[in-house]
Order: sequence, then C-alpha cells, then structure tokens
Amino acid sequence: MFCNQCEQAAGGTGCADFGICGKDEDVQSLQETLLYGLKGMAAYAHHARRLGKVDEAVDAFVEEALFATMTNVNFDVPSLLELVLECGRQNLRVMEMLDEAHVARYGQPSVTTVRTGTAHAPGILVTGHDLLDLENLLAQVAGTDVMVYTHGEMLPAHMYPVLRDHPNLAGHFGGAWQLQKTEFEAFGGAILATTNCILKPREAYQDRVFTTRVTAVPGGTRLKEDVFAPVIQRALALGPLPARSGPALTVGFHHSVILAAAPAILEAVGKGEVNHFFVIGGCDGAEPGRNYFSEFAANAPDTSFILTLGCGKFRLLDHDHGTLLGLPRLLDMGQCNNAYGAIQVATGLAGALGCGVNDLPLTIVLSWFEQKAVAVLLTLLHLGVKNITVGPAAPAFLSPNVFKILQQTYGLRLTGTDAKADLSRALGGAER
Ligand code: SF4
Ligand code: SF4
Repeated sequence: MFCNQCEQAAGGTGCADFGICGKDEDVQSLQETLLYGLKGMAAYAHHARRLGKVDEAVDAFVEEALFATMTNVNFDVPSLLELVLECGRQNLRVMEMLDEAHVARYGQPSVTTVRTGTAHAPGILVTGHDLLDLENLLAQVAGTDVMVYTHGEMLPAHMYPVLRDHPNLAGHFGGAWQLQKTEFEAFGGAILATTNCILKPREAYQDRVFTTRVTAVPGGTRLKEDVFAPVIQRALALGPLPARSGPALTVGFHHSVILAAAPAILEAVGKGEVNHFFVIGGCDGAEPGRNYFSEFAANAPDTSFILTLGCGKFRLLDHDHGTLLGLPRLLDMGQCNNAYGAIQVATGLAGALGCGVNDLPLTIVLSWFEQKAVAVLLTLLHLGVKNITVGPAAPAFLSPNVFKILQQTYGLRLTGTDAKADLSRALGGAER
C-alpha cells in the first residue's frame, strides 16, 4: 500500500505497508477501488449531465463515498466492500441515463457499415467518448468541405441516425488509443480529443491537436467552450487529406437491436444451433498479453455469438468471425458505457429462458485498462454476475486478501496464458 493523504504520512513522504492511522492494506485497497470506480462513473455521469440527465441519488453517493476515503473515517472491510458494490449499482444507473440520453437525442440505433480511410478533402478526426462534442462540431462544420471522421471510441457514433446522416460525417480512421501516436501523425488533418484516452502528442502533430474541457495535453489547444472554429480553421489550413480506403466496419448492435432479434436467437438456442454467448471487450492496451482476447474470440465455436464493446473490439476486428442466423457472430454493441446494453441483453435472455444470468451459457472476458472499466466491473459484481475473467493483469490496487474475497464470493478470475485452454474450460460447463 501507499498513502500520503494526511499530515501523519510516515517519514513525511507516505505510509507503506501499514498506515500510521491504523489503516491496513485491505482498507487502503478497498478505498482505492472505490475511488477508481468513482472516477470511471464520474466520466460517464459528466457525459450524461451534458445531455441533460442527472440523478440526485448518484450525486449524493459520490459525496458519501469520497467521505468514506478520508483519514480516520472508515477502517472496516465489510462496510467498505458494501460501498464498492454500491458504486457498481450507482454506475449502472449512470450508464442507463447515458444510454437513454444518447437514444433520445441521436435516434434509435441501427446496424450500419462504416467506411474507413479519408477522402481528398480537409479533415478532422474526433476521438474520445463525448457524442455531444461530435454533434456540435458537425453542426459548425456544415456547409464547408471539411470532412469529419471518428476515431477509437467515437466509432459507435455511426449507429445513431442523427449523427450518421450528417453529410460531413465521412467515416472512421484508426483503431484503439494505444496506436494514436502513429495514427494521428499519419492522419494529417486536425484532431479533436473529447475525453480519454488521449496520449501526450508527438511534436510532429501537437499543433493540430485540440481538446475539450478537462481534456488537455502539452502543445495542444484546449477549448473550454463548445466553439470549434479553431479546429475547423486548422483543418482548412492543413488542406486536403490523401484519399485512402480501408475495410468497412459493421457497427450498431445496440441492445435494442439484439433484443429485437431475441425470438430467433432463443429458438436457435432451443434447437442447439446457438450454444454459447461471449462478452469479450472493454479497454485495449499495448501489452503483449492482450492477444489473449483476440485468441479467445477467434477460437470461440461457430455456434456462439460474441458481444463486444469498448476499444477492446479493435483487436477482434482483424479476424473474420463469420455469421450465425444471418447476423455477424461478432456483434459490436458500442462504447464501453454500452456495457449497460450487454447487461440488458443478458438479463433479457435470462428472463426469456426463465433462469438467472449466472445460469446462461455466457462467458464474460473483460479487458481492463483504466477506471471506466473498474466502474463496469463493479456494476457486474453488484449484479451478482459470477465467474468473470479480467486481464491481462490483476488490478494493482486489489490487495491479495481483497482479491481473494472477490474470488471466493464471485468466482472472479484472471486471464491465463492459454486462451484456448480457458475457452475450453468456459465451454465445459462445470465452471461455466
Ligand atoms: S491517512 Fe493513514 S495511511 Fe494515509 S497518510 Fe494518513 S496516516 Fe498514513
Ligand atoms: S474503452 Fe477504455 S481504454 Fe478504450 S478509449 Fe475507452 S476508456 Fe480508453
């Protein structure tokens, strides 16, 4: 453990191993888990608030939970565990609000194919998660020949008709966040970063990076208001991008779209034509261990569907997973906050089959990187979802004892080194 939040910090630098106040590593671990879950939830809540959705109970919980992490307030593992699970419950509400706000403002999501590459015209690449920034940019670029492209977690914007139908939204460019230094340099136009995951830019392109509100990087220009004239002018000054084209991407398997197909899927489950569902997704990253997720998905049986979301999906797109019941086997549900949708699908299928989510032939393999993924994991634990696999590494803030509690209570496990063996165990039935 390490804590330096009060005057008593050991040696004037920080308490390691044990707190001067009496805090031990398990209490510190749960307080950090709570803090990180709150951070992820706060990002989602910020997006929802900007779209007019707030919940007083969520705001009150944030205050209460932060209070519990102060010096000399709580040294009690069970009550901190309760707060950690409550954070998961509140995050479910926040993700629900965000989903409702997106659908209400941008229309009923539907399946669509998205062009990749760039057209021979000035261009702006929009990355991050904030759809309202994209909407405002599109409104301000209308009537010009500046084309707008989504990057990373903005890809799901194309599933919403109000955004998709805008004449200046020209397609998608690039993959997950960890590739952005190469991709942003290669893009050649202006870049607008609306949230995480933005990296400190290389000098080569930092003068064409713009960020919004709390997002900021050295060398970039931070826009505090929803006025995008500087980005548009920069794109025009940079001139036309080269014409490039890549493979089309299929997006738009929002939970409402999948649940509309549920009767056919359930009939196929009854006939044994569909025998497993996987949720494989979340964040992405540069570590070599992340090929676990693509290998897991590539070896999933042809009689299974793979629901994916977050930028972890980009790792799965290289492989052709084929089709099942006329649908792609790999169903892109959207951004990481669309984990809410995956929960809706799981509870919908369980309800139709008259069983609990833990009785479904369902395997969840969560690729985590930062605090939004922590919030989503806490939501799944709050719902009592068992046997989730997380990786590629164990969260450093979980102490051995806290991890053991989660293992014993929820069957939480870590990704191994052999995706095929873990897949085979998942399909074996004994451990789900
Ligand atoms: S809160 Fe406790 S553990 Fe943290 S710095 Fe103060 S005395 Fe040390
Ligand atoms: S899914 Fe996670 S890693 Fe990927 S951009 Fe979103 S927050 Fe970042």
